[in-house]
Amino acid sequence: MRFCSLGSGSRGNGTVVQSGNRSVLIDCGFPFKELCRRLALRQLQAEDLDAILVTHEHGDHWRGVGVVARKLNIPVFMTKGTYRVVRQEKIPEIELFNCHQSFQLDDLTVQPFPVPHDAVEAAQFVFEHEGSRLGIATDLGSVSNHVTSMLTGCDALLMEFNHDEQMLREGPYSASLKRRVGGNFGHLNNRQSQELVDSLDKTDLNMLVAAHLSEQNNTPEKVKASIEELGFKDENYTIADQQLGTDWIEV
Ligand SMILES: [Zn+2]
Ligand SMILES: [Zn+2]
Repeated sequence: MRFCSLGSGSRGNGTVVQSGNRSVLIDCGFPFKELCRRLALRQLQAEDLDAILVTHEHGDHWRGVGVVARKLNIPVFMTKGTYRVVRQEKIPEIELFNCHQSFQLDDLTVQPFPVPHDAVEAAQFVFEHEGSRLGIATDLGSVSNHVTSMLTGCDALLMEFNHDEQMLREGPYSASLKRRVGGNFGHLNNRQSQELVDSLDKTDLNMLVAAHLSEQNNTPEKVKASIEELGFKDENYTIADQQLGTDWIEV
């Protein structure tokens, strides 16, 4: 199994997970042309995608999904709650999943789990292939025991490091937006993400990808410092930024 972030942040998200001949796109916050450009940088074409999994309805994850699904005629997987919000959009094939039930995409096992976020029914995923586990967790305002139990023991993690508490507090956002982002249904700050990673069984964890960094309320340097405090070496972590995302990462 391998994966890459096509770019991550409030201006658009997209992640590709590949196992065997399967390529699955998780979220699409990019217009179709931009998606194709970002895929091409990773030697992939839009036509290679087999399905889209949606975490939730926010524009930075959803914006491009309808167009991509129609152009490629591929199924879109989402929760019932997400579907309630986006049902106006024409999608060729919709597959609803239960947040507490794993499902198979060929030889790829997808284990969704619910996260506390201000969307109707937000999900994140753990992917399993031939004994390797990849956990993805962005867009959550707090950490539940269930989130921790899902992410523990992974070989690779793509995890939100959204903001620095002090930068958010002193930054340019309105009071209400600060409350939203910093609240229990907003986004994880660097300290929360650090504590979450620290609490996991990291025996097999070879790669940590920090994602969904706020451009106003965080810096890559602060995220790096948080991760290095946990003892991660250069080769065991990277940051998926808005423009470049990451290259392919083997799991
Ligand atoms: Zn988001
Ligand atoms: Zn969101």
